[in-house]
Amino acid sequence: MSRLQQVTVLGATGSVGLSTLDVIARHPERYQVFALTGFSRLSELLALCVRHTPRYAVVPEAAVARSLQNDLRAAGLATHVLVGEEGLCQVSADPEVDTVVAAIVGAAGLRPTLAAVDAGKKILLANKEALVMSGALFMQAVRKSGAVLLPLDSEHNAIFQCMPGDFARGLSQVGVRRILLTASGGPFRQTPLAELESVSPDQACAHPNWSMGRKISVDSASMMNKGLELIEACWLFDARPDQVEVVIHPQSVIHSLVDYVDGSVLAQLGNPDMRTPIANALAWPERIDSGVAPLDLFAIARLDFEAPDEQRFPCLRLAREAAEAGNSAPAMLNAANEVAVAAFLERRIRFPEIASIIEEVLSREPVVAVNDLGAVFEADAKARTLTRQWLSRNAR
Ligand code: NDP
Ligand code: MG
Repeated sequence: MSRLQQVTVLGATGSVGLSTLDVIARHPERYQVFALTGFSRLSELLALCVRHTPRYAVVPEAAVARSLQNDLRAAGLATHVLVGEEGLCQVSADPEVDTVVAAIVGAAGLRPTLAAVDAGKKILLANKEALVMSGALFMQAVRKSGAVLLPLDSEHNAIFQCMPGDFARGLSQVGVRRILLTASGGPFRQTPLAELESVSPDQACAHPNWSMGRKISVDSASMMNKGLELIEACWLFDARPDQVEVVIHPQSVIHSLVDYVDGSVLAQLGNPDMRTPIANALAWPERIDSGVAPLDLFAIARLDFEAPDEQRFPCLRLAREAAEAGNSAPAMLNAANEVAVAAFLERRIRFPEIASIIEEVLSREPVVAVNDLGAVFEADAKARTLTRQWLSRNAR
């Protein structure tokens, strides 16, 4: 084996970050942690630094950095603490880094992820919001720098595994007819529609199959997550929105499928555990142990499929419309969703209002071209302002 791969984990204190560090810790002969970043869970970040001894840690503010730096020194560690977005971009682009795991949640991950892209790193992308916001510019930057972009999102990692190696030539060139994007349907797949008015944040976060951060858990309950994933799939695999079909599959065993013109349909299966796509992307094109138990098909016994109901899940329709409109629409959709989901988690709005706010915000602003990152952040800021205005007029 050649030298140790240096890995930066953006969003190390989160659900994907912790799963990544679990896989990395199983392979000390391959990987060394270069940098870990956190935001609010600082005692967890300290414990992770003690466990993985990174060269750098990154936190949002100078006062927090001083306190963490003191704690690290007291623990006998040489880890150097950096601050804010600048620090995040620095540990993404450092010449010594080979791989950047992009696992910050939301728009906050965009600049640091792009810093890794511009520096030509191997990027393991969990932070789908970054790609949704800036799709065309993001993919252009990947092509320009020669960065290697590998999906961590379980569905996209599954699609990646089922695609031929030369899929970048174009889906029709490689005989792909459709991408079948599976969705569990989340905790409210069968909840009577009237009851959705009164569901709590904890109910929305109680995902039947996956354990994840709270924002993506709410997105899964509203199926906005699948909408964002549809947009993500279009960019990663150069597909049109009408080439991506969403299939509800409540067991979350098939993580997605690729349908070829000869009638072959390839699927990737596995237990619903993020360590599988993480290990796949970390070691690609090799395979390493992820710590995930072997799939027990006899225990699963059956696999079910159904079509999504857009009346129950209007966010899916809104995301498809944004995918078709392109330009500033996905960035606006994402920003309105981030603000609305935060308001729902704070119990300021009811669950069905997430979709109605987003719909209203999108209907108020014309879709405009986004030719640079400034325009992306402008669309993002506009949607946040409109959503906050709606909240100050209507929320509890
Ligand atoms: P978590 O909420 O568990 O973790 C988010 C991470 O981002 C934490 O490390 C958090 O720090 C950090 N963070 C939050 N806000 C900021 C900010 N403003 N600036 C810098 N860092 C910040 O989320 P998940 O791990 O569940 O999800 C991360 C990303 O991966 C999301 O984009 C999600 O859609 C995607 N994803 C997640 C999957 C999962 O299984 N969880 C599956 C597929 C995709 P702290 O905790 O210290 O506050
Ligand atoms: Mg997913």
